[in-house]
Amino acid sequence: MGRILLPELERVLLDESTIKQRVRELAEELSLDFKGKDVVLVGVLKGSFCFLADLARGMSIPLGIDFVACSSYGLESVSGGNLSITKDISGVVQGRELIIVEDIVDTGLTLRELTDFLSSKQPAGVHTVTLLDKPSRRRMIIDPDYVGFSIPDEFVVGYGLDYAERFRELPYIGVLRKEVYLR
Ligand code: 5GP
Repeated sequence: MGRILLPELERVLLDESTIKQRVRELAEELSLDFKGKDVVLVGVLKGSFCFLADLARGMSIPLGIDFVACSSYGLESVSGGNLSITKDISGVVQGRELIIVEDIVDTGLTLRELTDFLSSKQPAGVHTVTLLDKPSRRRMIIDPDYVGFSIPDEFVVGYGLDYAERFRELPYIGVLRKEVYLR
């Protein structure tokens, strides 16, 4: 089911079937690795909502589902605490295996701070899966445990990812034209 490329997009980076196939593979890999464990998928709002929904439905083990939301002040902000948690998880996680489900890892700040935040709740373990990774942009010492696609340093939207709250509903991932965010 194709859609016409929106004029704001330069090109499609990952089409719907490519994403589906890779998410299915990740779901199978996670199901094998966490078989017999008490697992909670922790989606990072809002960007991970498509990925989490497809990942969870592709997995073949029982799962808990929870969500966190956070806002970042960037690496340049003063006095530590560069990330504020605006929505905490709601369930009990002590002794459970948490898998943080991210849309994209860029500098690594969000993943670093979320991993530390969730680790402080005494789960059995904190693991990370991201659909997209931009390794060339990394500024924190952290790498996700599972990666869907490594991508170049371009601003992408779709499949949950937004620009100014637009484009989240697209079933594919596209590169946003520079003119859109530089104007
Ligand atoms: P980090 O904390 O790793 O620098 O950034 C993670 C967050 O930055 C992501 O959850 C996402 O909100 C935002 N981000 C980074 N790169 C992109 C991108 O190419 N497109 C979109 N839509 N968001 C991005």
